[in-house]
Parts: sequence; C-alpha cells; structure tokens
Amino acid sequence: MVKRVAVFGAGCSGLTAIKCCLDEGLEPMCFDKSGDIGGLFIYQHFSEVPEDDRASIYNSVIINTSKEMMCYSDYPIPDDYPNYMHNSKVLQYFRQYAEHFQLLKYIRFKTAVCSIQKHPDFLTTGQWDVVTESEGKQEKHVFDAILVCTGHHTHPKLPLDSFPGIENFKGQYFHSRDYKNPDTFKNKKIIVIGIGNTAVDLVVELSAVAKQVFLSTRKGAWLVNRVCDNGFPLDIVFFSRFNAILQCTFPSMINSYMENKFNSRVDHDNFGLKPEHRFFSQHPTISDDLPNRIIAGKVVMKTNVKRFTETDVFFEDGTVEKDIDVVIFATGYNFSFPFIDESVIKVEHNEIPLYKMVFPLHLEKPTMAFIGYIQPVGAIMPVSEIQARWVTRVFKGLTKLPSMEKMKEEVNKRKEDMQKRYVKSERHTIQVDYVPYMDEIAAEIGCIPNIKQLFLSDPKLAWQVLFGPCTPYQYRLCGPGQWRDARKAILTQKDRIIKPTKTRNVDNEMTHGSFNMLFKLLGIFMIFAAMYVLV
Ligand code: NAP
Repeated sequence: MVKRVAVFGAGCSGLTAIKCCLDEGLEPMCFDKSGDIGGLFIYQHFSEVPEDDRASIYNSVIINTSKEMMCYSDYPIPDDYPNYMHNSKVLQYFRQYAEHFQLLKYIRFKTAVCSIQKHPDFLTTGQWDVVTESEGKQEKHVFDAILVCTGHHTHPKLPLDSFPGIENFKGQYFHSRDYKNPDTFKNKKIIVIGIGNTAVDLVVELSAVAKQVFLSTRKGAWLVNRVCDNGFPLDIVFFSRFNAILQCTFPSMINSYMENKFNSRVDHDNFGLKPEHRFFSQHPTISDDLPNRIIAGKVVMKTNVKRFTETDVFFEDGTVEKDIDVVIFATGYNFSFPFIDESVIKVEHNEIPLYKMVFPLHLEKPTMAFIGYIQPVGAIMPVSEIQARWVTRVFKGLTKLPSMEKMKEEVNKRKEDMQKRYVKSERHTIQVDYVPYMDEIAAEIGCIPNIKQLFLSDPKLAWQVLFGPCTPYQYRLCGPGQWRDARKAILTQKDRIIKPTKTRNVDNEMTHGSFNMLFKLLGIFMIFAAMYVLV
C-alpha cells in the first residue's frame, strides 16, 4: 500500500502535489534543490549565477494568466491582488498557499535528487530507491511512490547550429534565460530571436531604452491581448465551457472568428506578424504593448536570420541590419530527467510518452507520476493540481489505470491529434487546452459538475458554470475533494476581478443626482416654452 511519497520540486506543481498527498492521507516528503519554494518564480538577480536545470525569469515578468483562472481550486487569490500579477506577487500567493495548508514542513530545501531506481522488490511493492544530496552528503531513501514536479522550462534551448556565422559575431549573444533587466542595453542595437512570450516581453521592455530593437521570427504569430473585451482578462472572456464546446464543434469557424477579432485590433499582415498557420495551431503569444512599439518604429519585425557576420545580420528576405550590438535567443527550453533511468522515461525532442500526460507507460506498478509536464492554453497551476488529485487517488488504489495497450493507444492518439493541430515545433509537444483537459482528468476523479442537474437545482450557478469562465472552483463543486465554499467562490469571482481595477469609485448617487436635476431643468424649460407658445 502506498504511504510515503517523494515529491521532486517545490514549484507550482510540487506545492499542490504535497497538498493533494496530505488530502488523501499520504505522507509526502518534498526535495528541492533551491532554498525556497516557487520554482520558476524565484527571481535570481543578475549577479547570481542561474542554478543549473532551472529556468530563470527576468525582473519584470507579469504572468499571462489571470488570477481567477490560475489559482488553486480551493484557495482563491486575494481579491485585492491584480488580475495579472507580477512574478513577486505570484510567489507571495504560493507562500500564502504553503502556509495556509502547512506544506513547508514537508519540504527539504537545498537537497538535490541524484538518482532513483526501482527497489529490488518493485514488482510486488512498487517501491523506489532514491538517493538525494544535501551539502555534499548523500542519503538513501525508500519511497512507496514518486511525483516528479521539476518543471519543463529547465534547460535553455540555444540552437546556435541553425545560425551560420554566429561564432564570428563580435557582439554579445545569449539565451533569454540570462536576461534580467534592460539596464545594460541603453542605446544598443538589439535583435531578439523567436516570437514566444519571452521574445515579445523582451522587445517591448528593451525598446524603451535601446537605440533600435528587431524581432526576428521564422513563423510569425497571432498576437492576442491580455486586456480583452470590456477590460476583462483574456482567459476570463474566452475560457468558458460553452466556448470550449463551440471550439471543439466548429474548429474552423472559431479559428476564423479569433483571427478576425485580433486582426481587427492589429492587421497582422501590415504589422509583419502574420503567420501562415491558423489561430489555434500555435501556442498563443500575448502582448498588449507590442503593436504600440511597432507602430512607433521602436520594434521592427524581421524574417528569420540567414547568417551573421562579425557585426551584421543578414535575414532570409535579403535585408541586412548593420552594427548589431546584442542578439538574444528567446528560443525556448528543453527538458529531461537526468536522475531517472531511460528505461523508465525517455524524453526525445521534448516529447514525453505519458498516459494522459501523467503516467509512464511501462511500469508494472503505477507508483510514479509526472505533474505539470503540459503546456496548457491557459493556466498551469489548476492543471497540475487536478493531475495531483487524480494521481494520489491512483496511488491509493481508489482509481485504476487501464491496460498498458490502452494507455499506449491513448498516448499515440494524443500525439497524432497534437501533430494535426499544431505547426511542427519542439514547443508544441505537450500542449493541452484548459477546459477539455481539466474535464478529462476530472472525469477520472469524478468531480465534473453535472450541468443538467445544476440547471434544475441551482440555475444561477449552472449559468455561471456553463457560460462564465471555467474557474478552477468548478472542480470542487462535487465528488471527492468537494469544497464547501466552491459555489460562493464562483458566484463572487466577478467581484474579485473588478476590485483591483475599480479603485476610483465614482459616486453614482451624484451622477444620477446631476442627471435628475438636468432632467428636471429640461422639464421646467419645456413647460415654460409651451406656456409661452400657448400664450
Ligand atoms: P517558446 O514559447 O518555446 O518560444 C520559442 C520561440 O523561439 C518560438 O517562436 C520558436 O519558433 C523560436 N525558435 C526556437 N528555435 C528556433 C530556431 N532554431 N530558429 C528560429 N526560431 C526558433 O519559449 P519562451 O517564449 O521562452 O516561453 C517559454 C514558456 O514560458 C512558454 O510557455 C511561455 O508562454 C511562457 N512565458 C510566459 C510569460 C508570461 O507569463 N508573461 C513570459 C514569457 C514566457 P517556432 O515556433 O518556429 O519553433
């Protein structure tokens, strides 16, 4: 029987994994190489050497998913927090979550996992031998199960082979992982390569101080804005169950709708952004500010780089930019698990064969799972949480996995579907859509809200659940792990969205009062006018 569970990593997936273990009465022990919780969100200063095998963020990162969509399902983000939070605020929320559920005492900081191996009795017990290292001392442990939560933004991908002449380039070049802030880039001529969220954030920030910034992309992108209809966050506007059904039923029509919508804000062709693929064929690139920089000439869009010389950069469209000082490769990340034997899991070109993106296929006992190895179109925290809720139930034997054959079929089908939908790129190997994937895992737990029943018993809530944003609280309304405040959290989510922006309260009484007064004056004027005409 599974009791002791090792959790690797205390980032956004590891924290919720610890909590889900506790909810199921398991005994978690978490190991993290760094000295703090938060993983990706621990900001490291320029002066610090970024830790190996960990992404490192820049100072200004503001998360692209909004607070009501990215919170853990039974712990809303405080109502006065901004909808899109600075990385320090996100970390603050993680700290509150860890403190509230008393997770810290289960974490061993500054402890690296060196190796894990099947225990000699694995076939009967499913146990694992784990070796960890802290302050130069190694320690051996035996665990009943393992949750790998080390993240997928770990090794910077620096594809120098694809850029002839870079070895002769005399300027500075580096991966975006090493970018911290714009201080040292004043008056420089800079090229940023890639059109993911890092690239667009960097060009916007750098263009405020640099002499000129160029953004080079081989595919282009559909650009969406965080601040969406009526100022509501993008994910709040689009990620409803109803919209998920529409997207699944009429994919081509919804693609066209989105393309028209975001083209009407910025004509992608005229702004050098237009890709050849459809809207939903690429992970979204989000920036409200990039069009402003392009229209002001501070950022200039370029095609892919063909080659570098000592000082100049030649592009595939035949243009050349001279005297370039800095090249930043915002070319994404790879991930791997050097501490796990390849017979257990093998990652190739960022492809990882996991049943429902969670369980390795070839284990005789389902006592290892991977949490957070997905790239959702939407927030990752609730997805990691629901995975961990499912996994802990599998560990306890409350839910069974299908046969190995069935799991393989599922993995192949998912891979095929992903390849059909997305343009070929190593960044599109672990994509999931927020609502359908959450529902898929929730079905395993038995916590999808029954909308038909809800319409009969609680129409107000049912309306929100179907047409409102599919906030994580929806997965706490029923079934195992039910949370009694879930209904309230759903019905008050709009208040929490509005609160941090509606900070200047206009006195409506006054406005109405003045309006009424105007109305009365108009009435009096008309009466006098009528009397004058009649007399
Ligand atoms: P990414 O999303 O993987 O994007 C990498 C970019 O580099 C893509 O445009 C890719 O183009 C390009 N690229 C890769 N290899 C290339 C090559 N050999 N030649 C030319 N172009 C190449 O990486 P990222 O932007 O660093 O983002 C990583 C993750 O962090 C994403 O999930 C992102 O959403 C997230 N993020 C979030 C925020 C935020 O919340 N504010 C900010 C930054 C990043 P192809 O598509 O052609 O491969």
